[in-house]
Amino acid sequence: MDSAIAEASPYVRAQRNLATLKLDQMAASLPDYMRMVSEGDMEFVSALAEMTSAEVRSREQRILRQRLRSSGFPYVKSLADFDWSFQPSVPRPKVEELATLRFVDRAENVLLVGSPGVGKTHLAIALGVEAVRAGREVRFMDCARLVDDLRDAQSRGILKKRLKYYAHSKLLIIDELGYLNIDEGGADLLFQLVSTRYEQRSTIITTNVGIGGWAKVFGDEVAASAIADRVCHHCSMIKITGRSYRLKDLPAEKKREE
Ligand code: ADP
Ligand code: MG
Repeated sequence: MDSAIAEASPYVRAQRNLATLKLDQMAASLPDYMRMVSEGDMEFVSALAEMTSAEVRSREQRILRQRLRSSGFPYVKSLADFDWSFQPSVPRPKVEELATLRFVDRAENVLLVGSPGVGKTHLAIALGVEAVRAGREVRFMDCARLVDDLRDAQSRGILKKRLKYYAHSKLLIIDELGYLNIDEGGADLLFQLVSTRYEQRSTIITTNVGIGGWAKVFGDEVAASAIADRVCHHCSMIKITGRSYRLKDLPAEKKREE
C-alpha cells in the first residue's frame, strides 16, 4: 500500500493528502492553480496563499454555521433583514448600540416588550447572531421550554449543574415570557436562574406582557417582582407598539378580494 502511494504521481498523492486532510476547496482548485503556475501566470507561493486562504474562509464559515446551530436559534435573521420603516417604534440607534455588544461585556440585560408579530424574537435573534459572530457563547431558549428543562433537572437532582450550564452562556435569550403562565415552582426556578446571571451575564427577554403584568404570569406578586427586579436593574427596555409584521400584507389582500 505504502509503495503504491509512493509510486503514484505527485498530483495523485497531493489529491489523496488533501482528501485525508479534508481540504476540499484546495483539492477542487488544485488543477486550475497547477495550470496557472505551469503557464507562468502565477508564482507557486501566491497560488498556495490563495488556495489556503479559500480553505481558511470556508472553515471559518463552517464553524460559524455550527455555532449558530448549537445556539438553538429557531431561525437565523439579522438586523439587515429588519424593516425599520415598518416598525418606527423600534429605536434604531438603541438597537444598533446593542449590536456593538457592549451590553454583553457589561453583563446588562435587554427586555423586548410588545404584542405578537412585532419583531421581538427577530431582534433578539439578530443580537444573538451578532454575539455568535463575535465569538461569544449564546443560548436561545423558549421560556416554557427553559422552565420545563429546569424542572426536569430538579426532578433528576441535577438542578445546580443545569443552572451552571445556563450561567455559563455569555448571552442567554429567553423567548416569549408571558405566553404561558408559570406556576410557583417554575417561577422559583426562573428566579434562581436570573439570580445566578445577575450582574455576571447578559440576558435578553422577549415578552408580550409588560412588567406590570408579570404578577399574573407568575401567579404571584412577590416572585414576579423578585424576577423583574434582577432583570430590570442594568437593563435596556424596548417597547414595540406597532402592527404585526405577520399581518402586514392583509389589507392589500383584502382589497384585492373586494
Ligand atoms: P414576535 O416575536 O414579536 O412575535 P417575530 O420576531 O417572531 O415576532 O416576527 C414574526 C415574523 O415577522 C418573523 O418572521 C420576523 O422575521 C418577521 N418580522 C417582524 N418584524 C419585522 C420587520 N420589522 N422587518 C422584517 N421582518 C420582520
Ligand atoms: Mg416571538
